[in-house]
Amino acid sequence: MSGADHPEYDAVIIGAGISGLVCGNYLAKAGMKVLIAEQHHKPGGYCTSFTRRGFTFDAAAHSFGGYRENGILRKVFQDFSLDKNIPITRYDPSDILLTPEYRVCLWSDPEKTIEDLREPFPKEADKYREFVAFLMNPSLNSFARIRSWTFKDLLDHYFQNEALKSMLAFPIFGNGALPPSRMSAFIGAKIFIEFLLDGGYYPDGGMHVMSNALAERFQEYGGELLLSSPVQKIIVRNGNVSGVVINNTLIASRHVISNCDARQTFLNLVGKKHLPQEFLNKLNHMIPSLSMFVLYLGMDQAFPENAGSNIWYLPQYDLENMYRSAARRSHKNISEFMMRISPNGKCILAFIHAPYRNKPFWLNNREKFIESFIIHLTHIMPDIAQHILYKEAATPHTMHRYTLNYRGAAYGWESIHSQLADVDFRRPSFLHNLSLTGHWSTQGLGIPGVAYLGYDTASTLLKRRKTLPS
Ligand SMILES: Cc1cc2nc3c(=O)[nH]c(=O)nc-3n(C[C@H](O)[C@H](O)[C@H](O)COP(=O)(O)OP(=O)(O)OC[C@H]3O[C@@H](n4cnc5c(N)ncnc54)[C@H](O)[C@@H]3O)c2cc1C
Repeated sequence: MSGADHPEYDAVIIGAGISGLVCGNYLAKAGMKVLIAEQHHKPGGYCTSFTRRGFTFDAAAHSFGGYRENGILRKVFQDFSLDKNIPITRYDPSDILLTPEYRVCLWSDPEKTIEDLREPFPKEADKYREFVAFLMNPSLNSFARIRSWTFKDLLDHYFQNEALKSMLAFPIFGNGALPPSRMSAFIGAKIFIEFLLDGGYYPDGGMHVMSNALAERFQEYGGELLLSSPVQKIIVRNGNVSGVVINNTLIASRHVISNCDARQTFLNLVGKKHLPQEFLNKLNHMIPSLSMFVLYLGMDQAFPENAGSNIWYLPQYDLENMYRSAARRSHKNISEFMMRISPNGKCILAFIHAPYRNKPFWLNNREKFIESFIIHLTHIMPDIAQHILYKEAATPHTMHRYTLNYRGAAYGWESIHSQLADVDFRRPSFLHNLSLTGHWSTQGLGIPGVAYLGYDTASTLLKRRKTLPS
């Protein structure tokens, strides 16, 4: 091993997920010498796309929020002058909630949503206005009050109808992998604001357009991006992090920022011997979020109706039970799901939460999942099976294989109270010069959440320069 041939970096970022890319852009733009090392052959982490037989599918993330005026992603795009380069469409309604009894659309204009609610839920429609007003403009006092609440407490505060509460909670369950009784009200509220009240945005061409644009801009700012380059080790001496090992070569760096899974960061890259026992105990008890099984279908004709909207199908209203079943999902208990028809109408993505299982399990069960999921989709598209030209699926094992996220977790750690805002997962005091960014850092999830963390991580490193570059 030799570091002699390599220049020293101000920062090495492990992983080119959205959080690593955003962080790298801010640092490189400010003049730091930055390297991003990514183990996969393309940037983006969960935010990539792939093409098979002429069909382009988003691999995992398939739309984003936080793009309103002053929204975090709008700010990020503006800071890197990407807002004019990447055409973004907002699909409206962003989300359609379907049950056997009801159909409710979540529109960009909450007043339209209220009108949708008025007929099925006459007593609750105006309560939705109050709920939205609270979310969009929470006073310091009221937000402090919900800090110890669950999302269920928050819904109970505004609504009475159990069916409506489940319908409003279902996209939060989908986007955070927790039922309302376990989801912190704070994170649930953030998801509602960023994914639903300001959601439905999509880069024309596919999610990879956003990741590729961030990767290109980073290099234009002078950053170096190494693809197909897993970091093998983080170098620690006397509690100080001083670089990484890539391809058996030591690369010295003043700061190391990990955008990859926290267990991998601490247990594999840093190593147990550098971790305090108390932290190790905590790490071993942390619960990851559920993973997902994703079905990709290429169709023989366009299905333009509701293309671009997230369609949520809730066959019954007991989300607590659904969470328990998802944790032991088999092909026999596929029930609730989310699906999205691509803007050109020709590709369908369908998602269900699923537990991590090993490769042999999925070798035996993948096809069974695909077939029963397709049968289940007939609740929304009765003749779907006759129009499929191409079918493929990603299992939780696939999620792990492509991103190395622990157990293929969709959203990092579960967003339960005991796992929120833990500084050891952002800037561990026992490892100087190491930061974590992204959905394992206990402070945010989803694309807007991890983009904010990328910004915040860079901003902390740059604080000696007083301001971020504009
Ligand atoms: C199926 C699915 C659908 C989703 N849909 C949405 C959605 O529509 N909208 C939304 O906002 N969010 C969605 N999410 C969540 C969202 O995608 C994630 O929260 C977010 O993309 C995480 O970004 P990140 O930068 O924290 O990490 P990741 O995207 O996990 O990136 C981490 C990166 O680190 C790399 N890496 C790992 N180990 C190493 C190593 N040793 N060396 C080098 N590189 C390494 C990985 O390859 C990866 O590129 C979805 C998630 C899933 C699974």
